[in-house]
Amino acid sequence: MTQGREGSQELRARLEWLRLMGVEELPMRLSPRASPSPGIGRAPSPSAKGVPSPGPERRSVVQVGLFGGFEEMESPEPPGAGRRAQGAETPFSPLAGVKSAEAPDPASALRMIRDDIGDCTRCGLCHKRTNIVFGVGNPAARLMFVGEGPGADEDLKGEPFVGRAGQLLTRIIESMGMERKDVYIANVVKCRPPENRTPLPDEIATCSPFLFKQILAIRPRVIVCLGTPATQTLLGTRDTITRLRGTFHDIEGLRVMPTFHPAYLLRNPAAKREVWDDMKKVMVELKKAE
Ligand code: URA
Repeated sequence: MTQGREGSQELRARLEWLRLMGVEELPMRLSPRASPSPGIGRAPSPSAKGVPSPGPERRSVVQVGLFGGFEEMESPEPPGAGRRAQGAETPFSPLAGVKSAEAPDPASALRMIRDDIGDCTRCGLCHKRTNIVFGVGNPAARLMFVGEGPGADEDLKGEPFVGRAGQLLTRIIESMGMERKDVYIANVVKCRPPENRTPLPDEIATCSPFLFKQILAIRPRVIVCLGTPATQTLLGTRDTITRLRGTFHDIEGLRVMPTFHPAYLLRNPAAKREVWDDMKKVMVELKKAE
């Protein structure tokens, strides 16, 4: 296949992804920019909660013994439970239009991506952020977690998942027999959305190519998408987390497991059961690939 045809297929894939993400219009710019957006056919520069809407609740008292101690609680049944697609295949890949960083190893590739982000002003989230929250962990991780965007604690510290939801994520990782330093943790957007609102489609469209490059650099065996924005961004779908969680989806040989965001678990502890079921599937998948 010629480079031109590959290029236009990549462009088509990227445009289709943008459309799925809700980006209806693209600004036209024919001359090179000082601070270009990442993504389409662009080589890296050498310098430089997802929370499902709870819906109608069916309450029951359950005991949950996950991620630190038994708790007795009222449990909302997630809407759509049992309606999930089984063994869903995702033909669409958000990685299709993304150029990977040309580096000798994952750690250098990640450094190049971070340099490329620079002191980013590509979207409006730059105005109120304290720190860019790039990602943390093992550059050669076999397991990667992707969240939505930094909260207040993460914005102050410059590290993802260090607040209350992050502490729960750490317990989930430890329950899987690993430590935070073994996995890689990143977000769809690298700057905190004001008042912790969900990132807007154009913010996701601007920032997520950096996440895709991180994924290409690390090439984990399994990616766990935490919550709706991460799941929708990686799977190129508007489907809800409740419908998508619990089943592996494939993106170019990477296995993607959507599950509930830890922030949702803090409000709905009964859903830890489902997350633990999902993490058990992830552990089996990691074991298979050893
Ligand atoms: N929620 C996220 O999605 N990411 C973080 O880094 C922290 C909280």
